[in-house]
Amino acid sequence: MTFTSLASSSKGNSYVVSDGETTLLLDCGLTIKELQKRLGYNQAGITACLVSHEHNDHAKAVSQLLKRGVPVYMSEGTAVSHKEDMSLAKIVKAGVSFEIGKFWIYPFNVFHNTAEPLGWLIHDKRTDETLLFAIDTANMNVIAKNLDYIAIECNFQSELLEESYTPTLLTERIKKSHFELEKLITYLKKLDLSSVKKIWLMHLSSHHTNEMQILKRFSEEFPCINVEICPE
Ligand SMILES: [Zn+2]
Ligand SMILES: [Zn+2]
Repeated sequence: MTFTSLASSSKGNSYVVSDGETTLLLDCGLTIKELQKRLGYNQAGITACLVSHEHNDHAKAVSQLLKRGVPVYMSEGTAVSHKEDMSLAKIVKAGVSFEIGKFWIYPFNVFHNTAEPLGWLIHDKRTDETLLFAIDTANMNVIAKNLDYIAIECNFQSELLEESYTPTLLTERIKKSHFELEKLITYLKKLDLSSVKKIWLMHLSSHHTNEMQILKRFSEEFPCINVEICPE
């Protein structure tokens, strides 16, 4: 199982998970043109797209993908809240697993300021590897076992958000809808990380994070795990 980041910030998010045969696009928050470019003009290689929620930086290209015949999976709440017609989308529900190729996918609820945002556990039945993917969430309550990979939001550092000239209302909104570094570390410490080979940190706010400080905190807390920050 491979994981690749195509784009990771409030300007746009899209990630690729592949077993070499089945290729999943996780979120498509770029214009279709930009998405094509970052996919190396190989959109035909995409088996399906999973969309976490309706915000533009995650779902911008959905209708274009649907028009091109790519199956797109999302929750009912996301479909209803999307500003475009989502009648062709495949509706999935937290707690109800489904399969695409040799991937077993388990959607779970995350905590964001949208109708029905989802995160995904993606299990490769051939290699027995599992990825936990969660983006745009203020916290997590999923305790997953036997994880090999984690791709998770690390949006801001509390002290940097407080120090910045961010309007109070926006500060409150960020706190309620995005993952803070120390909160994320507290969550990860609840998991059994003994088989985790790599953690990708996604959706960093350029104003409210310091990459060096984040990597230092991770190396202090999880010295044996390879941690990578997904670039914009
Ligand atoms: Zn976002
Ligand atoms: Zn969002």
